[in-house]
Amino acid sequence: MLLEQKQQTSQISTESTATLPVMEAFYTIQGEGAYTGRAAYFIRLGGCDVGCHWCDVKESWNADAHPQQSIDNIIANSLHYPGRMAVITGGEPLMHDLTDLTAALQTAGFQTNIETSGVCQTVTGSWDWICFSPKKFKKPNPEIYNRADELKVIIYNQSDFAFAESFVPYLRPTCKLFLQTEWSRSNEMLPRIVDYVKNHPQWQISLQTHKYLDIP
Ligand code: SF4
Repeated sequence: MLLEQKQQTSQISTESTATLPVMEAFYTIQGEGAYTGRAAYFIRLGGCDVGCHWCDVKESWNADAHPQQSIDNIIANSLHYPGRMAVITGGEPLMHDLTDLTAALQTAGFQTNIETSGVCQTVTGSWDWICFSPKKFKKPNPEIYNRADELKVIIYNQSDFAFAESFVPYLRPTCKLFLQTEWSRSNEMLPRIVDYVKNHPQWQISLQTHKYLDIP
């Protein structure tokens, strides 16, 4: 693969990808959103060009900083644990063609969940659950709207409530709606989220429970 093709970009290759840049993979408890509390095998892929200033995984941004792993190797590692829910995250995982990875995971018996900002041109892969987490710093591709099973918006300041609401008319009625405070802003924003959800009960609070539990 040419170097420039591997650099940070939202363009996606149409070729199937035999390897992926894996920043880390680990078995833990899903701390956020609809599957909070469930055992999950996280696969964090390198590469993101969204540029959130509060991002807590900035080391994921440069895909070239992370070793390419074969899909066979990723699957073999995932099978060391009893859980059969995989969460593909990043970075922005949809910068990569995830067709082969999700096919292999599903063949191995995994539920395939993804966490994405939705900014990429195409949603590749076969997904059992799509968590759409839009960011103000780069507009999502509307293709994601009727694919999302869950909307999760990070609340950093007051205007993020309106940002969150702006997506609701475009989503499926079954899409679950979550508000989650940005971690460093919890003291100020969590009480506002509590009030907001009490007044707008179609929303739910998502807490980063893995941080309270001090687990990955
Ligand atoms: Fe970080 Fe996610 Fe924002 Fe990318 S989209 S900069 S990984 S928070």
